[in-house]
Amino acid sequence: MQYTTLGRTGLRVSRLGFGCMRLPMKSPTEVDRDATIPMLRRAFELGINIYDTAAGYCGGDSQRVLGEALQDVRDKVVLSTKNPHYNKADKAGWWRNLQVSLERLRADHIDIYNHHGINYDIFEQNLGGPGGIYEEMLKAREQGLIRHIGFSFHAPPDHLVKLVDTGLYDTVILQYNLLYRELEEAIAYAAGRGMGIIVMGPVGGGCLGYPNERAASLVGDVKSTPDLALRFVLSNKNVHVALSGMNAMKQLEENVETVSRAGEFTEQDHRRISAAIEERKKLCGLYCTGCRYCMPCPAGVDIPANFEILNLERVFGLTEHARQRYAHLGGKAALCRLCGKCLEPCPQKLDVPTRLGEAIQALDERAGSVIAWTELRGASLAGDTLSLKLRCLVKNLSDKARKVSVEMLPSGEDQVWPQKFRFAKMPAYGRRQKDLQVTLGRAADAYHLDAIIRHDASELVEHLSDTVLPARRAEGYVLDASERRPGTIHVPAAGHPALAGEQPAKEHCFDFSVAYDGENLYVYADVEDDLSGVPQIPGQSPHRSNHLRIYLDARTPYMIGRGGYDSGVTHVTLAPSATAGRTAGELAVSARGEFEVRSAWRRTPTGYRVDCAIPWRAFAQVPAPPAVTGFDIAMRRYDAQGRQTLHLNWTGRAHGDRTPSAFGKLVLV
Ligand code: SF4
Ligand code: SF4
Repeated sequence: MQYTTLGRTGLRVSRLGFGCMRLPMKSPTEVDRDATIPMLRRAFELGINIYDTAAGYCGGDSQRVLGEALQDVRDKVVLSTKNPHYNKADKAGWWRNLQVSLERLRADHIDIYNHHGINYDIFEQNLGGPGGIYEEMLKAREQGLIRHIGFSFHAPPDHLVKLVDTGLYDTVILQYNLLYRELEEAIAYAAGRGMGIIVMGPVGGGCLGYPNERAASLVGDVKSTPDLALRFVLSNKNVHVALSGMNAMKQLEENVETVSRAGEFTEQDHRRISAAIEERKKLCGLYCTGCRYCMPCPAGVDIPANFEILNLERVFGLTEHARQRYAHLGGKAALCRLCGKCLEPCPQKLDVPTRLGEAIQALDERAGSVIAWTELRGASLAGDTLSLKLRCLVKNLSDKARKVSVEMLPSGEDQVWPQKFRFAKMPAYGRRQKDLQVTLGRAADAYHLDAIIRHDASELVEHLSDTVLPARRAEGYVLDASERRPGTIHVPAAGHPALAGEQPAKEHCFDFSVAYDGENLYVYADVEDDLSGVPQIPGQSPHRSNHLRIYLDARTPYMIGRGGYDSGVTHVTLAPSATAGRTAGELAVSARGEFEVRSAWRRTPTGYRVDCAIPWRAFAQVPAPPAVTGFDIAMRRYDAQGRQTLHLNWTGRAHGDRTPSAFGKLVLV
């Protein structure tokens, strides 16, 4: 094993660290101890002496298992963990987290204590300056509870430079690997100022973590892709430790073997690997630098992301991984409508639309066919009858021009107009659209449409469906939780798809309604779920206590439902305290983003009622209240160990509320 000094901490650490975020699991909240503890012990025997974890890793069980495995060798290892609490108005919450971590780790001190996942904005607003959370770090260090102060980081390079310039931190944990090199210069800057640099994801979040001939053959003398990936990271002289999230004994032993070849990681190695990768990109004809001058694309294509994924396939031969990444990409190449707007700004003179066609061919599981999808653009309500404005988009995913006809088949009493339409010529990779009106035949909250697509001699059926809810305009809305509101939607536990296989001990359900005006979206909920007997867990964030969560996606219509949370989706969490009596207590309100949510709430004999106002301007990415918003509302409850025991949401898509594509739609009428 190679060892080094971790920047100004002076700690002597192994260059390979154990990242405890992906340990083998028995259930979502329980680490498989039979598999994990021997691996952690073996890691120690093989010379790994730095271990990184966080309060929330492995459903909250990672710290516990680390404490159990290494208790007797505590003074021989460096423990790093993280505190996700940023609310400077609640210092007690930060201290509770620290106390819980010490208990779980069975330690009287933590060697490296990190703010979890910060950027410079979080630092400015909550951590730095008089009264900021950083002062609590200093107090904990004075009391001997922590030794060194660091942060973990997932933000652009300029944020890292500004955080380094504060001069307050000894270490940083950040992402850096063969596939993600954006922080390379900022890493050099931080190391040059004495900080210890700990890299997470040295093997690209696992995608470089399995043998692959093409990646391994980039440089003649490496044995496997993981070998190449680790060598690349550790041959950067500014990196002290590579944390590998190991979850199998074989992987541990191979990684240790790579890092034990002392003296092999040189700067020359680093330059050689970098040059080989750049050369391969050029040979593949896809030398996209990620400069984003071509963005934004009017059709919502994330051009550099598609090329980055295509490079995974072409440069590294990571075909399966690239296909999975493409499948989860919001701005897929398949959205391209060949307008050509991206051609002129590209300094690399890439023929972007043609290259996107290549991306479709290599990565899209439906390459060669013609596909259709819909965007909900608005709605109107007459009595109980809801009429939806849908845009049907049809894309030719092949390199041949085609004649295409489409027939829409609504279900039940629903009606659609026009029912048939055709496109006389769809060019290779071309896209066309048709606006439709769909009238739901009853007070429905879902529609199902089949689109039969015919071209050449083939026929394909697309199943188009969605869950929709009209929100009525309500001028002069007053937040009020004292009375039950009429006209709510009932979300029962019994028979709910999200509860398949779960047997809640008691009946749980909630009713909710949604209204809006020019300023706010109003969400009211009446929850039947007695919380009085459920103790709140010390140090537990509202996100792991009983709560209601409202999910919102108010982007432009073509982006709603696409991609992940990073693309602009938010949520609001409402967590009633469980320890107070039935008439008192607090409602903890937190939002993903910096905005204030006004609320009223009260307990009821069987649960609680809450009414809240969420300002449009805080999350809508269009100037006025949007005609359509991605929406879901979920109730979760946890047991005294912080394990989730109930999850109930409006759309009924089990656990699907974690991704915008599974949200339902709110239409403003
Ligand atoms: S050609 Fe395609 S990718 Fe380029 S701007 Fe137009 S729609 Fe976007
Ligand atoms: S402008 Fe060209 S090089 Fe820059 S991100 Fe777009 S495609 Fe890539």
